[in-house]
Amino acid sequence: MTPVVVELLYILAIALFALSLKWMSEVKTSRFANWAAMTGMAVAIAGTLIAYQIQRIDLLIAAVLVGILVGAPIGLKVSMTAVPQRTAISQACGSLAVALVGVAEYFNRVPDLDVFTMSVLGGEIILGFLTFTGSCIAFMKLQGLISGRPYVYKGRNVVTIAILGLAVAFTIYLVLNPSQQAVLPIMIFLALLVGFNLVMGIGGADMPTVIATLNSFAGLSAAALGFVLNNKILIVAGALDGSSGLILAIIMSQAMNRSFTNILFGSVGKTLKGGEAAQTGRTVQQYSAEDVAIVLEGAKSVIIAPGYGMGVAQAQFIVKELADTLQKIGVDVKFAIHPVAGRMPGHMNVLLAEANVSYDQLWEMEKINPLFPQADVAIVVGANDVTNPAARDKPDSPLYGMPILDVDKAKTIVFIKRGRGTGFSGVDNDLFYLQNTMMVFGDAKQVMTDLVTELKKRTG
Ligand code: NAP
Repeated sequence: MTPVVVELLYILAIALFALSLKWMSEVKTSRFANWAAMTGMAVAIAGTLIAYQIQRIDLLIAAVLVGILVGAPIGLKVSMTAVPQRTAISQACGSLAVALVGVAEYFNRVPDLDVFTMSVLGGEIILGFLTFTGSCIAFMKLQGLISGRPYVYKGRNVVTIAILGLAVAFTIYLVLNPSQQAVLPIMIFLALLVGFNLVMGIGGADMPTVIATLNSFAGLSAAALGFVLNNKILIVAGALDGSSGLILAIIMSQAMNRSFTNILFGSVGKTLKGGEAAQTGRTVQQYSAEDVAIVLEGAKSVIIAPGYGMGVAQAQFIVKELADTLQKIGVDVKFAIHPVAGRMPGHMNVLLAEANVSYDQLWEMEKINPLFPQADVAIVVGANDVTNPAARDKPDSPLYGMPILDVDKAKTIVFIKRGRGTGFSGVDNDLFYLQNTMMVFGDAKQVMTDLVTELKKRTG
């Protein structure tokens, strides 16, 4: 009876995980996706508890309590902009757990380890430990605990690949001689070093892509452990995690027009300098929020292009208020969503959803671009790279080839940002110097508040 119940619970959990991934791809269904994933996980845990003889229920309850006490406040308190680092640290804990279970299995079974089991276990341990250090470094870079600049030295990539090769060589030795227990700590040390060396050499802004890649490693590692433990749910959930992480990393690199290997081994960001634009000697036309209110009063169609700075300033609520105020005076308002605006996929969708901007106001890049020529004003709130025309016309620019929002085709462009600082790519934006560009300097939330106040004053 029990094995049948376990099988049924596992099938239900797998179906819920698959549905969750499907629903996650649409903003409208993404809330269901979260519920499906959480229910799937609860069902999977229930199935596992039924399947295995739990001898120390007290330890299990203690672990659940620690998990709730640590996880709940983090989940409730963490801000939207800190989601990438929160994901990184969760992933570090998950991969460490998987790796340690692998080590425990090794010591449980040694010396009765056949070639297949030891190979899978070896791969799982390497992936688990390298994901652990990689995720810890990603967390520290994103949280600002260490510099976000890539740490580079001559031959860094060769060193990373050589250490990985050495770890694999020791694993092969252990597969052939499973009772040589002293080899395991060497393997673990080398795997930890690979994760450290790899991620230290990648710039902080590339961390979201790195996290997605490490996520796929953690998934593969869990799937491998599933083979060792003969646990079907672990195999399927790990494979889903592994493949979705990889697909996400590829989508993100394509949207930035960067190859996957360029992100992992290119050390982009080592020469970036903040505020480069200010040093070019060109002048911009600086305006006040009041000036912009006057222009908006006479507009019929406005497109708002949000970016990373809107998230930093937490300006999404006041941006929504601006949209509402404009709509009340008969202005058509749309939001232009670039696929890599911000620092994580869907960053703008999440922020605007948090502010209750309706989904039908959010326009994807391909759909909104043809509408810019008819727009009276494009308001760029804390975005930079995703509007930079260098991506279209400067083959030597790091942005070249990245699809951008065509805000320059609108009649008037308003940039709301703190100064002339560059974006993630570190390159100047020619749009700042155009005759029809109004630069309004200040924190996005403050400027938007002033703008809404002035607009309300003027329009009653
Ligand atoms: P961006 O190019 O990084 O520019 C953001 C701008 O926001 C900066 O120029 C900054 O200028 C301004 N800013 C910062 N804090 C602000 C504040 N409190 N108030 C007002 N403005 C503020 O951002 P983006 O246009 O969204 O482009 C995203 C970039 O990240 C792209 O290059 C993309 O390739 C990269 N990226 C994205 C992802 C992803 O998944 N979304 C992943 C990895 C990398 P000031 O300093 O002058 O204020």
